[in-house]
Amino acid sequence: MKLNFCSLSSGSSGNCYYLGNEFHGILIDAGISAKSINKFLKSIDVSMQSIMGVLITHNHSDHTRGLEVLTRRGRLPAFTTGEIWKSILNPQNRISRDCIREIPIQQKFHLAGFDIEAFPVCHDAPATIGFHITAGNKKITIATDLGHICQTAAPYIKAANLLIIESNYDEDMLVNGSYPHFLKARIQSDHGHLGNQQTSAFLADIINDNLSHICLAHLSINNNTPEKVLQTLHQTFSERGIILNDQQQISILNRNVPTDMIRLIE
Ligand SMILES: [Zn+2]
Ligand SMILES: [Zn+2]
Repeated sequence: MKLNFCSLSSGSSGNCYYLGNEFHGILIDAGISAKSINKFLKSIDVSMQSIMGVLITHNHSDHTRGLEVLTRRGRLPAFTTGEIWKSILNPQNRISRDCIREIPIQQKFHLAGFDIEAFPVCHDAPATIGFHITAGNKKITIATDLGHICQTAAPYIKAANLLIIESNYDEDMLVNGSYPHFLKARIQSDHGHLGNQQTSAFLADIINDNLSHICLAHLSINNNTPEKVLQTLHQTFSERGIILNDQQQISILNRNVPTDMIRLIE
């Protein structure tokens, strides 16, 4: 069995992630254009024909921008909860209605060889979810937009072998930056985004030998840098006496280009 993960784009200007086995693949979110998705998949040697569906976490445009073209031209089935569909669909958008698939929350469904479970997270879009995906003996959790780690999300995040988690902003850069007060408050709130210190402290709490890959995702373009993310994480881990083992990898996901493929099962 093969199991590969690749982030095609990650950040407030667009999110799209690929997960594939030897036969098929799925996308998680479609926040970049369908053209870019096609181009990026090609660059990692994945054919669009192998993609069996796209999972959608919430209605923000940095997660849904490519959905119209993917469903209308590509006939790609799109999966999310009824409540999120209600918040996405309106008479103006041209998402192909026959590509809509409604999924349950906290209940497994099967797609392309993956067992997938949606779980609720706290974010300022209606009924936002993360995904916990099982393939073989590996577990992948994706939680990219969340203001804090709520009790419903924590067990799914703690169980991951590969974790894609947001580290959106550097606390000092946000506070001292140019955003208006209301926006700073929104981002920092329990329904906004996770800051570097929050993510690092949570990771220090849950790190264990089964967590082999940590991908830090959805970095703000204005209030964060990859260096700040790593600096905060390393400082937090060193203060807590945490030393990673040889198998454990930490990656920062690129904003506008695919990251190196993570091969969970060769
Ligand atoms: Zn987002
Ligand atoms: Zn969002």
